[in-house]
Amino acid sequence: LASRPVARLAGATRRYGQQTALDAVDLVVQRGELLALLGPNGAGKTTAIGLLLGLARADAGTVELFGMDPQRIEARRRIGVMLQSAELPPTLRVGELLRLTASYYPVPRRLEETAAMAGIGDLLKRPYAKLSGGQQRRVQFALAVCGRPELLFLDEPTVGMDIEARQKLWAAIRQLIAEGCSVLLTTHYLEEAEALADRVCVMTRGRVIHEGTVEALRARVALRRIRCAST
Ligand code: ATP
Repeated sequence: LASRPVARLAGATRRYGQQTALDAVDLVVQRGELLALLGPNGAGKTTAIGLLLGLARADAGTVELFGMDPQRIEARRRIGVMLQSAELPPTLRVGELLRLTASYYPVPRRLEETAAMAGIGDLLKRPYAKLSGGQQRRVQFALAVCGRPELLFLDEPTVGMDIEARQKLWAAIRQLIAEGCSVLLTTHYLEEAEALADRVCVMTRGRVIHEGTVEALRARVALRRIRCAST
């Protein structure tokens, strides 16, 4: 089925106590596209990713990866993940981390290729804990892509990076898309969505309030500014 989405939430709801973190959300990632999830803190972006990763179960609705339950190993093998908080063994060297992670996947990328892609070729012998925040983010990206994922999850991948480092990572993400990889990315930066996304989904308080192209979102934001200015 060529047209089947690689990831799908349909009416997905997730509650934490009294709070509804995700409220009947519909969302699909089509094969080969980059979908950006935008929205303020607490909007439900990380919760949505958590459901698709099988880290939490939906209280209601459907959650699918490649048409399967996200907890199935056959689905998990086909994804790459870069989360906001990555706990990695601090004493391992970058090269060791990469080799270990790649060994979980059936057809890993060559280590040199992964390192070049993430711009960490000169860091392979360094212990992970000794790296700067930006360098650690690049290593996390390398770990996420070393298994040649069909679908990549990037949760605020460039937060805290300077503009040059961000643009380098954007170039690497574009390379993956060119290879046919699909991406679900969360970000607080509209310009990141503009640089990368085929479509954007804007969330707030657990709901999707806009879904479409970045241009359409820009137009909506501009229109609202004009309306506010004229009242
Ligand atoms: P951010 O941009 O800060 O990462 P987000 O859009 O990813 O925000 P979520 O982390 O999905 O938002 O959080 C949505 C809501 O659900 C928040 O109000 C949050 O407090 C709540 N929440 C998320 N995870 C849990 C949890 N494990 N226990 C309790 N509440 C949670």
